[in-house]
Amino acid sequence: MAISGPVARSFGGGSELTREQLLDAPVHWPRPSVLDASLKAIEGIGPKLADAAAQAGIASVGDILLRFPHKHRDRAVVPVSSLELGKQATIGVEVLADARRPFRKRGLSILTVKVGDDSGSVRATWFNQPWLTPKLTAGTRWLLTGSKDKRGFRVSEYEALAAAGPVGAGDPPPPAVAEASSGAVPPTPPPADGAGSLVPVHPATEALKAQRIRQWVEQAMQWVGNVLEPLPAELRVRRELAGAGDAVKAMHFPERPEDVEEARERLAFEELFLYQAILATRKRTHRASRPAPRFGRPGESVARWIESLPFALTRDQQKAFDGIDGDLDSGEPMQRLLMGEVGSGKTVVALYSMLRALEAGYQAVLMAPTETLAEQHAATLGKLLAEEATPFALLTGATPAARRKEALDRLASGELGLVVGTHALIEPDVEFSRLGLCVVDEQHRFGVAQRRALDSKGVEGMAPHVLHMTATPIPRTLSLTAYGDLDTTALHELPAGRQPVQTRVVQEDERPAAYEFLRDELRAGRQAFVVCPLVSESEKMQGKAAEREAERLGREELDGFAIGVIHGQMRSPEKAAAMEAFAARESDVLVATTVIEVGIDVPNATVMIVEGAERYGVSQLHQLRGRVGRGEHASHCLLFPEDAGEMAQRRLMAVARERDGFKLAEVDLALRGEGEVLGTRQSGLPRFAVAELPEEAALLAAARDEALALLRRHGSLDVPELGPLLDAAHRRFGAGASDPIPL
Ligand code: ADP
Ligand code: MG
Repeated sequence: MAISGPVARSFGGGSELTREQLLDAPVHWPRPSVLDASLKAIEGIGPKLADAAAQAGIASVGDILLRFPHKHRDRAVVPVSSLELGKQATIGVEVLADARRPFRKRGLSILTVKVGDDSGSVRATWFNQPWLTPKLTAGTRWLLTGSKDKRGFRVSEYEALAAAGPVGAGDPPPPAVAEASSGAVPPTPPPADGAGSLVPVHPATEALKAQRIRQWVEQAMQWVGNVLEPLPAELRVRRELAGAGDAVKAMHFPERPEDVEEARERLAFEELFLYQAILATRKRTHRASRPAPRFGRPGESVARWIESLPFALTRDQQKAFDGIDGDLDSGEPMQRLLMGEVGSGKTVVALYSMLRALEAGYQAVLMAPTETLAEQHAATLGKLLAEEATPFALLTGATPAARRKEALDRLASGELGLVVGTHALIEPDVEFSRLGLCVVDEQHRFGVAQRRALDSKGVEGMAPHVLHMTATPIPRTLSLTAYGDLDTTALHELPAGRQPVQTRVVQEDERPAAYEFLRDELRAGRQAFVVCPLVSESEKMQGKAAEREAERLGREELDGFAIGVIHGQMRSPEKAAAMEAFAARESDVLVATTVIEVGIDVPNATVMIVEGAERYGVSQLHQLRGRVGRGEHASHCLLFPEDAGEMAQRRLMAVARERDGFKLAEVDLALRGEGEVLGTRQSGLPRFAVAELPEEAALLAAARDEALALLRRHGSLDVPELGPLLDAAHRRFGAGASDPIPL
């Protein structure tokens, strides 16, 4: 094979490889299966650590390699004599005298040991780590990172060095650097052929120290060559992207600080590219050029229905109708995403499109992810259809068999035109005579398979029109690239007559008054939500916290009121029961984690209290407060910060001031990095491991262009030469329950 011109580039150095160098390169075939090896392949992982690793999402050698560090620390060792007060540094020292028992002071255990190198000595201190005492014996050698303070050298990270003296028996094997340095620790970084002087700091968990993870990564590095390269060579050369395995290596052990960002961007591109590849293939499959029924222009009966509404449409609703009218008469299946926060009047838009189908002689369905939401839609439909007396059915898992059978018969015969329901709608025995339009609420909560099942119930040879709805405002840049060709419509305006939710940031000393206010509201017959602080990633702890808070409120501030609890650790029926009890006013207050349904409608609830409010993203707070202000009474949202710095206070003030959810989504965009933010999770986008959205929207757009170009060139991504690409894409983003792609 003739190789001409520069074909590859070494990582980091950026130099082009010559033909000779390339031909000289060791031949190697990656064996990705190696990366599936269990943690047993790693030395020093017993059952307990394997458990801790599993908890942290690490189950295989490959998982270890993909556990990227969140930062790097410079391990260049400095002489003790050059330490400066308050400045972090790493020293390589010997313990000069056995450590004595730590002393205690105000509940702290303080361990002090005299250490030194050729240049001088210093007293190293450890807080609350008494178990280190027996290990810090005279003559042992250590790498200590910390900073000099009045007391001495306060250690934040430590590593035993192997060279002289015994190291505690239980210690994990020392990392590579320990062997690299012999005798006196040189004040210069280790030689350039090994890793650079940058030490990765990996995200730790309670049970898994960063140092431990680093040691595993060091071992796992020997298999990094088995990381598959999913990107086509042509693309890599053109965009000057390093190899996948090299990038993974550089993420952990960069030679230069710049390598990390270069590697990260390469992996981010890969990730976004794979995602876009999946998206592109799906769209194509979907469009398999099935036409959609043409509904013509709106007629008499729809016009009459609009007349009959007890309110005037908002301008945004009118615009949404117009957009939908265009779609429904195009001959291609509508694929429109309707965004509007809770209460913005999406159901009216949904119903409009459904009535258009009915008028054109077709059937229409509205599918929601939960029974509660389906029932609420049915209630809204009931209200809005009253004058028309248009029959519709509600079909959920709870529908009694007889009623279900009747509804199915009428749907199959075509006698019934409209149906609202849950997943129950896509069961195989549900048949339609002429299904022409589907509305999918909270579309990202359905899997691809489910949306497909619905899609396949359309008229033979035709695709039904689909309107997707979401209550999460997604900034335009993101929705365009993420959902590709999906048309989007946003409802910004809240319908007239909606009471704005008065939002206040309540400082600690105002708490008693706030509870007094809450009790007044409850005594007046209103209800309230109390949302617990986001304490941890763990659902279990979150659930416990909610239960504790409910119990505390019942004992203290809300003694005498009925208090319900709802959280993610409860089973679905329990959750539904708690929600129903609240809706039926059996409880006055519902203490909750963020599992409260997005679309939940309890018009009598007028107070929303958010504890630890600073831990929530701006958009999330806005969504939470959307659960109140849905009835005739004035509503209030009280944000209780727990430990908010100035920045956090400012964010909370922004929520208090701004009522437009789309504007707040932009605020979130601007403040990204400040805690939980809209972007991946709430928008229904998948979680990316490396790519940072929304900041990397431009990279996402580039990835999308490349994926589409590739598709154009090959006609399909399902060609042999793109095998690794499609494989990787399916593995990473393939069909799964949480699949976000709306087709
Ligand atoms: P969403 O589904 O977006 O949460 P809904 O469609 O359920 O919102 O609307 C919330 C409430 O507002 C419903 O009771 C609905 O009848 C009412 N509504 C919808 N559009 C308007 C409007 N233009 N003016 C006044 N009320 C409206
Ligand atoms: Mg709704």
